[in-house]
Amino acid sequence: MLRSAILTAAGSGSRLGSSLPKALVPLAGTPLLVHAARRLLASGEVTELVVTAPPAHVADVRAALVGLTLPDGGEPAVTVVAGGASRQASVAAGLAALPPGDGTVLVHDAARALAPPEVVARVARAVAAGHVAVTPLVPVVDSLQTVADGTFVGGRVPDGGAPTLGATPRTTLGVVQTPQGFDRATLDAAHAAARAAGVDGSDEATAATDDATLVERAGHPVHAVAGDDLAMKITTRRDLALATLLLEEHDDDQRDS
Ligand code: C5P
Repeated sequence: MLRSAILTAAGSGSRLGSSLPKALVPLAGTPLLVHAARRLLASGEVTELVVTAPPAHVADVRAALVGLTLPDGGEPAVTVVAGGASRQASVAAGLAALPPGDGTVLVHDAARALAPPEVVARVARAVAAGHVAVTPLVPVVDSLQTVADGTFVGGRVPDGGAPTLGATPRTTLGVVQTPQGFDRATLDAAHAAARAAGVDGSDEATAATDDATLVERAGHPVHAVAGDDLAMKITTRRDLALATLLLEEHDDDQRDS
């Protein structure tokens, strides 16, 4: 049975204002992807990692991951592959690098460096209990407004403003996090179905931004489990500053307990 995780780490660091790929940006002196990998392995649910790296940084990513350990002291199997043009394409490259087999595969963003082992375990257990696709979810805390597609193309509402098209109640909405967990065959088939439908991940604009979406499009139910604020995606310098504080706070809590 597979107990594998694909760790997506092929994004650029541009929104963090870094020349390093985002996954190699240090958080308290340790690259984001190493924080993420340690927490995946600490869950006890993962023994094999496939990591997607920016094509020009495969060797750097491999070097950063040397010395990872399993909770029993053993060594995880770690494979690093070149990622693709979008997250979807990178996950597809990761799936292609996994040995064939049945079981659970988790897909996790290195950018969610502080996702706690408890969330990893919760997701893996839900897949083991028979759910073919599982995502962590947290409630939306802001009020929401719909706008015309394209309004945020510049990253914010344009200077001239834009009409809103109506409020959406937040009580029925959740924010998706990772790791997401899947029955391996179901995830393989969902990626293949997307490719067959012309969505192969070569275009960021149309590529799926998470894997549960692909499985849902393939007609399967997606099961939600509780996410965690610590599993937030680190995208901006502000996120990195917040993650640094959260890490300090968490380390203090661990010392006190
Ligand atoms: O770009 P975004 O923040 O949505 O990326 C989410 C995750 O997917 C990150 O961990 C990033 O490294 C990864 N990614 C990837 N390949 C890409 C783009 C993003 O592995 N082409």
